[in-house]
Formats: sequence, C-alpha cells, structure tokens
Amino acid sequence: MSNTNGRTAIVTGGARGIGAATARRLAEDGFAVAVLDLDEGDCRPVVDAIESAGGRGLAVGVDVSAEAGVEAAVTRVAAELGDPTVLVNNAGVLRDNLLFKMSAGDWDSVMHVHLRGAFLMSRAVQRYMTAQQWGRIVNLSSTSALGNRGQANYAAAKAGIQGFTKTLAIELGRFGITANAIAPGFIETDMTAATAARIGVPFEELKAQRAAQIPVGRTGKPEDVAHTVSFFVSDGAGFVSGQVVYVAGGPRG
Ligand code: NAP
Repeated sequence: MSNTNGRTAIVTGGARGIGAATARRLAEDGFAVAVLDLDEGDCRPVVDAIESAGGRGLAVGVDVSAEAGVEAAVTRVAAELGDPTVLVNNAGVLRDNLLFKMSAGDWDSVMHVHLRGAFLMSRAVQRYMTAQQWGRIVNLSSTSALGNRGQANYAAAKAGIQGFTKTLAIELGRFGITANAIAPGFIETDMTAATAARIGVPFEELKAQRAAQIPVGRTGKPEDVAHTVSFFVSDGAGFVSGQVVYVAGGPRG
C-alpha cells in the first residue's frame, strides 16, 4: 500500500471498463474512492468490491457535462468521503461516423462528455487541491488523438484533452498539483466491444487483428491503464506533470 495519507480520489465513468479497474486499483493503493457515473446503481458493484476488500467507496450518479450536477456531486464526495485531491477524468462516449455522415448532435455529445466534463470536474475539484497544496489530475486521452478514421469528433476531443492537461499543469503546478494524460491504445472494454459490433466484426476477431499490429503482441486490459494512473497519482510522481503517456503496447505519439 502506498503513502496515500487517507486521501480521497474521484474516478468518473467508474462503473465500467477502465474507470472501474482504476477505482479498484486506487482503493487497493489506500485511497477512499468516489465512483461517479451516469447511474448511481451502476456504480454500486464497484463500491461493493472496494468495501469487501476493506476499502472505502462512494457511489455517485452524475452527468459530468452538467454544471450544477457536477458541483453537487463533488460537494457530496467532500462531505461523505473526504475532500477530493485526486481526480481521474475517465468518463467517455463514442459517436463514430465518417465526417459526411456525422451529425452535429454526435459532435456535440462527444465534446460535452470528454471536454466540458473534464473541465467542469477539474474546476470543481481544484479548490480542494489548492487548499491542501497537493493534488493529482489524470485525464484520459487516446491514441485516436493522433487521427483515426471515423472519429473526427473523438479525435478532436482527445487531442483537446492533451492541451487541457498541459495547461492545467502550468496553472496549478505552484499549488503542488500535477496534471497528466494517459492515451490508451486498444483496451478490452465495452467501448471496444461496441466498436466491434458497429463494424460487424466479432470482438475476439477484432482483438486478434489488433494484437497482430501491437509490438507487445496483445491488446490492453483496463488494469494496464489503472497501473499507469496509480503511478501518476502517487506521492513520488510529484515532479512529473503535463505529460502524455501512450499506454498502447508500443511507441505512439
Ligand atoms: P466504457 O466501458 O464505455 O466506460 C465509460 C463509462 O463512462 C461508462 O460507464 C459510461 O456510462 C460513463 N459515461 C459516459 N458518459 C458519461 C457522462 N456524461 N457522465 C458520467 N459518466 C459517463 O469506456 P472505457 O473503454 O472504459 O473508456 C474509458 C475512457 O478511456 C474513455 O474516456 C475512453 O474514451 C478512453 N479510452 C478508451 C480506450 C479503449 O480502447 N477502451 C482507448 C483509448 C481511450 P454508461 O455506460 O451509462 O454510458
């Protein structure tokens, strides 16, 4: 168990996939963990797992793109679990389509959840971090930030996340706060399973196709990303800020 000093972490989109693995990992590391997702009931199995293992957790239902809801959720976390000084902006959606078929609604949904969501959450949580002169923000980008067919909206949002992260690192560094981004490659979650379904390829076949192109010879697991989050939020990583780490089984970026 690392030196977490009873700190509280928030993981958005924590009910499933990378967020759920990250919430469980941070609880193992000794953080009290607030699991935020659209539906509070969907967060409960993750919180139950944390509590069964002897940790502290809290399930909170919130849409990260809704300003009043975000303020209320963060206030509730502070009251019920402790002032949050670790934030993992992980909530995400896909609305893939080629540019000529992409609706303005599909563009807006992706921008709202990834960019507006990360902005609102970071703004709400930074006040607890600045008060304690210590904080860790980790934002989920993607290898799609480098460009990906059918993902003009998602690629733009994930590239935006990188600029947002670097700016937070510059603005908040003097308060003992670091901000870093993780850009995963292909990770086995419901999100990539949905991509397989959309393009009409069995998930196992898509995983095998992708693994053949990845230098380490396999696709990623949510725990691969959670491990990287665990490093960024550790006390010892206080001189690492404004970085983008590609967790993709090989060099990217
Ligand atoms: P996932 O399995 O689809 O989980 C995403 C979670 O975010 C879901 O529980 C979803 O809730 C929640 N969410 C969506 N909109 C939200 C909102 N407005 N407010 C609160 N929660 C919301 O996705 P994942 O694969 O674990 O991905 C996690 C993050 O990593 C995302 O930012 C994604 O873009 C990024 N990423 C993933 C991969 C990959 O290969 N999987 C690669 C690169 C980057 P619902 O289920 O209710 O919609």
